[in-house]
Amino acid sequence: MVIAPRIRGFICTTAHPVGCARQVHEQIEYVRRQPVLSGPKRVLVIGSSTGYGLATRIAAAFGAGAATLGVCFERPAEEGRTATAGWYNTAAFENEAGASGLYAKTVVGDAFSDDIKARVIEMIRADWGQVDLVVYSLASPRRLDPRTGQTWMSVIKPIGERFTSKTVDVQQSVVKEVSVEPATEEEVANTVAVMGGEDWALWMDAMRAAGVLSADVTTVAFSYIGPALTHSIYRDGTIGLAKNHLEQTARDLTARGMRAYVSVNKAVVTQSSSAIPVVPLYISLVFRVMKDKGLHEGCIEQMVRLLADRLYAPDGTPVDERGLIRLDEHEMRPDVQAAVAGLWRQVDTDNLADLADIDGYRGDFLRLFGFASQGVDYDQDVEAQVDLPSAL
Ligand code: NAD
Repeated sequence: MVIAPRIRGFICTTAHPVGCARQVHEQIEYVRRQPVLSGPKRVLVIGSSTGYGLATRIAAAFGAGAATLGVCFERPAEEGRTATAGWYNTAAFENEAGASGLYAKTVVGDAFSDDIKARVIEMIRADWGQVDLVVYSLASPRRLDPRTGQTWMSVIKPIGERFTSKTVDVQQSVVKEVSVEPATEEEVANTVAVMGGEDWALWMDAMRAAGVLSADVTTVAFSYIGPALTHSIYRDGTIGLAKNHLEQTARDLTARGMRAYVSVNKAVVTQSSSAIPVVPLYISLVFRVMKDKGLHEGCIEQMVRLLADRLYAPDGTPVDERGLIRLDEHEMRPDVQAAVAGLWRQVDTDNLADLADIDGYRGDFLRLFGFASQGVDYDQDVEAQVDLPSAL
């Protein structure tokens, strides 16, 4: 079939297998151009199919020669319907890993469930014995708690009072105002249950109890801080409280003898970040400023730095005063943030294309689903059914 983007709000309901494979390949090529990474040899990535998780998997495999096991929640193609982008990304990754002689298997299913945890533990035991690095990179709107059967739904809302701000309708290129009502206490608790650290700790404790963690195991999960202008909706909102919980979980895991970190990453366009009000406008402005200053990075550049200069740095892992790994140091530079704040005050629908990198944002968004990739003929008929090599 000929596959075109079908965009509904902040998601695209189609994905292009050739474009997704191209983008995975480009990330692999980027990693191959970097110095060889030392570090983990057996890596589990929970949330491995898109965004930061996929980039970490690519960096570990093609940078450090690691065997990788991925966990993700993706869907294969069905009659008349494409697979999800994460499915195509994973198939492409496994094919390239296989061609390079690298172990790569993927478990597709709900990472929050006991069943998937048990399956992964069995695979680690059977194939590797133990795992050296566990990357926790889930971003999900809901979590079914296996113990209680309750489904928690996360929301992205401010706390205490209504938040009103500029935002952008990316597809229409319109800058407008958005108002978000404050979360209820129940919504706060729900969001912490989905995006906090409880499930991360369940994974680590289950693996430790099963004896599949190596003695010097490292584990990392991801967070974001960002500038004051997004704090009400992000860092001081429901998701920020969940991130506080994630950071506390890292400290708890450390106290239980594991090398556990939270890495504060840069804002990038992913399926998750595009769903947050206000953030796409901020991202399109910060992209403009960072590209002008030669500081721009995407997921793969960040994750190569995470492995090379942070988690496996020769002189130990550098952290800030709160114990957090910081990969957002360029984004948070005072000159970058001052420039963004100035643009933020001025930006409106008429000057959006001049002040913001809205085309860059839209291009990144399309590329998440395998579209807008250079060298791909989107008028060609392509086979939407793509197998995951490790599932065969
Ligand atoms: P993403 O949407 O690209 O990736 C989410 C991953 O989670 C996918 O692999 C998906 O399949 C998987 N997943 C979701 N629900 C699942 C489930 N129930 N079972 C198994 N897998 C499931 O998201 P991302 O932006 O890469 O986010 C990853 C982490 O990075 C999050 O903690 C996010 O807060 C953090 N982060 C993101 C940004 C950003 O700008 N995007 C910045 C800093 C930190």
